[in-house]
Amino acid sequence: DTAAPAASPEQILSEVFGFARFRPGQREIVDAVIAGRDTLAIMPTGGGKSLCYQLPALIRPGVTVVISPLIALMRDQVRALREAGVPAGALTSANSQDESDAVFDALDAGQMKLLYMAPERLASAATRAMLARIGTTLIAVDEAHCVSQWGHDFRPDYLRIGELRRMLDVPLAAFTATADEETREEIVARLFGGNRPRIFLRGFDRPNIHLAFAAKDRPRRQILDFARARPGQAGIVYCGTRARTESLARALCDEGLSACAYHGGMDPDLRRAVEERFQREDGLIVVATIAFGMGIDKPDIRWVAHADLPKSIESYYQEIGRAGRDGAPAETLTLFGPEDVAFRRTQIDAGLAPPERKMADHARLNALLGLAEAITCRRQHLLSYFGEESAPCGNCDLCDSPPETFDATEPVRKALSAILRTNESFGAGHLIDILIGRETDKVRQHGHATLPTFGVGRDLGRAEWQAVFRQMMGHDLIRPDPARHGALRMTDNALPLLRGQAGITLRRDSLKRARKTPAVRM
Ligand code: ADP
Ligand code: ZN
Repeated sequence: DTAAPAASPEQILSEVFGFARFRPGQREIVDAVIAGRDTLAIMPTGGGKSLCYQLPALIRPGVTVVISPLIALMRDQVRALREAGVPAGALTSANSQDESDAVFDALDAGQMKLLYMAPERLASAATRAMLARIGTTLIAVDEAHCVSQWGHDFRPDYLRIGELRRMLDVPLAAFTATADEETREEIVARLFGGNRPRIFLRGFDRPNIHLAFAAKDRPRRQILDFARARPGQAGIVYCGTRARTESLARALCDEGLSACAYHGGMDPDLRRAVEERFQREDGLIVVATIAFGMGIDKPDIRWVAHADLPKSIESYYQEIGRAGRDGAPAETLTLFGPEDVAFRRTQIDAGLAPPERKMADHARLNALLGLAEAITCRRQHLLSYFGEESAPCGNCDLCDSPPETFDATEPVRKALSAILRTNESFGAGHLIDILIGRETDKVRQHGHATLPTFGVGRDLGRAEWQAVFRQMMGHDLIRPDPARHGALRMTDNALPLLRGQAGITLRRDSLKRARKTPAVRM
């Protein structure tokens, strides 16, 4: 009997699941769930969450009910468990009558340890009564973020789980790969009724992936150089638009590299051909929108570059995470510039999401910009966003060469003052002209040469001012106003600086070439 009560977790791990050892984090979670603690475990996709409820289910008495949103996934898991000799079954809309009858018979005979169920089932009072009758002793919730109303995967029936927990009065173990704090709090509130579960956040570090960001200067050249330095290695370049994937793929081919474009607008057969080539060939570069990646299961992707800034820190993490699944060293490069910030902000504001959701999306973008403008170890920043503490990593661009920083309180105040004195109506180029005292036609036309701010920033060059403005955007002190051609507006975050209640340290990395800031073309 695989569920013999005397068996230890290690024994079950090897004898039933066939694994030699626990993955990082699994053992602690397993112990908490066996002990009947309310548990919320956050682990990345592929981290091995299912084991964390399947194994305890075999040690605990009675039945563990697993709520899962995906029928195909449930059926796969049940099949795998049965092959391992574990009495498991699923009640889903895809069941035949015979299948369901067999599940009910096994439950009545007390011969079922794991019962998978779609959330829709919980709407039925008969189902809830049945779960009480069969001796449910644990509720496991897969993809627990489906309870979050502001998430993309919201499933209204997940809201019934909290009620079920109260009714059965049994411990609940929830699992998700979504790590941001708001979603976490929503899960705690809705599934655990506010009773704080033990929260485990494990396995988000991917130490073999080198992290690097660079200011977007000459993006096409920057990406070509990065790709050329890695001949024969499989890589992905993510772009913000379909058109850019095609032009950049062409540019890479012109350099003699083997590259192809991939995006959602392409013919499905063509897309599949690219996927297959990528799996099969050694050194192919795929230049893609985020449409590429979901189904890609290639362990030896050696690098991922972002020609445009991703939309959030979660997307960034997911996209770079496709590199180096085999554990061997992998490299990343993410380019970002003011145009990216404007593009992403406009995308959020123009969307149809409710205001609270938009605010959350801006916050997620801010977290990514904060990471882009970080001045100490990037991995520490990234992991701390996910709630994991760590030491400086020694495998990011900022650990490799710590940036020179300076007290930018004065320049930032001058820039804010230039913005306010011109009624938040102009972009960075014109504001910099005012700060460095350049009498352009536009400056004359608006009478801006007479402003008290005119020429107060002569101690810095244009390129340095551009870096200051970019970092101010990164710190969300200013935002481009999409309704007014990107005119910069101050945010409330800038008030303490303006009032002299706070200072700010910035990086002194000026862009190398002083250039106007035209829309970036690839
Ligand atoms: P998640 O639900 O976190 O995305 P899964 O539970 O599907 O991940 O597990 C991902 C893969 O890792 C599965 O193939 C699973 O069999 C495997 N796995 C889980 N735990 C271990 C372990 N301790 N040792 C080896 N492989 C494991
Ligand atoms: Zn580091």
